[in-house]
Amino acid sequence: IMSRLNLACAIAILAVLLSGSCFASRKLLVFLIDGFRYDYMDDLQNLPGFKEIMDNGVKVDYMTPDFPSLSYPNYYSLMTGRYCEVHQMTGNYMWDQGSLKEFLIGINPDSRLPMWWDGSEPIWVTMQKLGKKVFMYYWPGCEVEILGVRPSFCEEYVYNPTERNLTDSIERALDGLRSGRADMAAVYYEKIDVEGHHYGPMSSQVKTAVQRLDNAFQVLNQNIKDKNLSDELNVIMFSDHGMTEIKWMEKVIELVTYINMSDVVKMMDRGPVVSLWPKQAKYEEVYRALSSVRNMNVYRRNQVPDRFHYKGGKFVSSLTLVADPGWFITESKSKLPFWQNSSSPEPQGWQHGWHGYDNEFVDMRGFFLAQGPDFKRNVRAAPIRAVDVYNLMCRTLGILPLPNNGSWSRVEYLLSGSVGLAWPSPLRALGLLALVLSLQA
Ligand SMILES: [Zn+2]
Repeated sequence: IMSRLNLACAIAILAVLLSGSCFASRKLLVFLIDGFRYDYMDDLQNLPGFKEIMDNGVKVDYMTPDFPSLSYPNYYSLMTGRYCEVHQMTGNYMWDQGSLKEFLIGINPDSRLPMWWDGSEPIWVTMQKLGKKVFMYYWPGCEVEILGVRPSFCEEYVYNPTERNLTDSIERALDGLRSGRADMAAVYYEKIDVEGHHYGPMSSQVKTAVQRLDNAFQVLNQNIKDKNLSDELNVIMFSDHGMTEIKWMEKVIELVTYINMSDVVKMMDRGPVVSLWPKQAKYEEVYRALSSVRNMNVYRRNQVPDRFHYKGGKFVSSLTLVADPGWFITESKSKLPFWQNSSSPEPQGWQHGWHGYDNEFVDMRGFFLAQGPDFKRNVRAAPIRAVDVYNLMCRTLGILPLPNNGSWSRVEYLLSGSVGLAWPSPLRALGLLALVLSLQA
């Protein structure tokens, strides 16, 4: 009886392994909507595009970003499934103390150096290495050669792509996927974040931008039907972080009030998270002076909370300043980042929204939606985290995920036909085989 049981067990395990390795590989279209807070789609009856996607797919209550709740760190957490300290993209602005090179958000030649990007392999690079083709539209970093690889197609990032750019990208992405020229397509859209910064998350400008995005998603839904792609294409959309209201000129922490800036070798970024490299001889003095500042925390490198999964990053500064929600850290008010605005009634271009704060702060939450043959229909699910998305993308594409920090148990429920079996990793397979062998023995 025992040996029969073992045989049955071995067959069952073999079946699991085979079914896992034969999991359908479908085409995938991904949208990264910058700065789209989890609650921006709550006004559903005015958003028929979003509503149709939810009816046909899954929506999680919210998606918690990685710390810091900034763009580049989360772009990479989403596409690698790893925490910032693991993939090394720890800021929108980074400095390498060894080479003195700078990574600056936007367009800066040194930002394309492999050193910033090669800390982890994003999913599009893995796909290309496997001989599959990825088309990317305005996606920050698609122009960079990462680990020696570029996507099959990259429409280079430009500041704030237009709605026309978005609908054109959708059209071209769907054509590429349908014709078989692409296995995966990825579209980036920045407008929601831009309006959120300028006018605040509750502004009419954000509302209008969301409406227009909804129009584009209506076009997307119609196109998927027209091109007969409903049964073979999965669509996943998410944001990198949310947005919170800031009180410009009021809730500002000016570093010059507390420290002598000449005691600092380097300062990167401003806002919710600031990186400081004080001169060695002045380190304790600067630390002590900043420790007394209200509405802000200052961390020595080894004091950064573990839950941020941040301090292990190789570009992390010797002091990290994190502002309380709504507060803004800057060298001095004269160095606040204004934007070009001629039509505003306020002096120059005041900012009204920002992000980057503690990633557990509610307003930093992003969204996640998915539809297609591999996803449940008309289902609302519990929250997930940015690092969880990678495993889902790999699963629907039929590729094995690299080691990552995502939780399979948080996303498994979203899949149709999920039967409680995790991804059959080579390690798991080995473990199961070992189990069978030990039972046989
Ligand atoms: Zn932003």
